[in-house]
Amino acid sequence: MELSDAYIHSFIQPRNELLLEMEQFAAANHVPIMQLSGIEALNQLLRIQQPKTILEIGTAIGYSAMRMALALPEVQIVTVERDETRVAHAREFIARSEVAERITVIEGDALEVDVEQVQSTYDAVFIDAAKGQYQKFFEKYAPLVPSGGVLYIDNMYMHGLSDLDIKEVPRRKRTMIRNLKTFTDWIMQHPDYTSAFFPIGDGLLICLKR
Ligand code: SAH
Ligand code: MG
Repeated sequence: MELSDAYIHSFIQPRNELLLEMEQFAAANHVPIMQLSGIEALNQLLRIQQPKTILEIGTAIGYSAMRMALALPEVQIVTVERDETRVAHAREFIARSEVAERITVIEGDALEVDVEQVQSTYDAVFIDAAKGQYQKFFEKYAPLVPSGGVLYIDNMYMHGLSDLDIKEVPRRKRTMIRNLKTFTDWIMQHPDYTSAFFPIGDGLLICLKR
């Protein structure tokens, strides 16, 4: 039996004015920020993990970065976004928050930028960007995660597409879905990580580095 949205929503914590404004901005401008139930689960796992540094791939307007910074009062976050307009919005929103000095936004393609100029290691990496490139992001950034660190990967459901037979996936999305499946098979068998899939939000994969 499916739970009602209202029941799930009854557990969502209240957010401050700025976060509500960002949620409205995202809805009005079709910015795909993380779902509320997903971010709450992610934040709770982060509170348990207690990372000192987080690298986020895919800032959008800075919503999830701000939520993580508010959940972890000491954490330093570096977040990468390639869309110039979104970077500008993220910097404006973050500047208005109480966590501005703990979030660094880097503009550029995550496959090209140098995040080691800010921090040399990241206790947690949150991958929430171009869906066809998870394996490339993972291969580039996992070496910066120490043993015991965690990579969190959002949108494993791809809004339901990842569960379809490839012939039922719209043509222009097939490469993306094939890449996701290749990545999933690869990571689930990878000897250096213990991985678990959490069916929350749009699907969250959690890879603990041995
Ligand atoms: N984490 C955000 C949502 C990110 S949406 C939140 O929950 O609030 C995904 C973002 O990733 C988009 O803004 C997109 O422009 C960005 N993106 C996609 N591919 C990227 C890449 N290769 N490098 C940097 N950013 C990328
Ligand atoms: Mg996402």
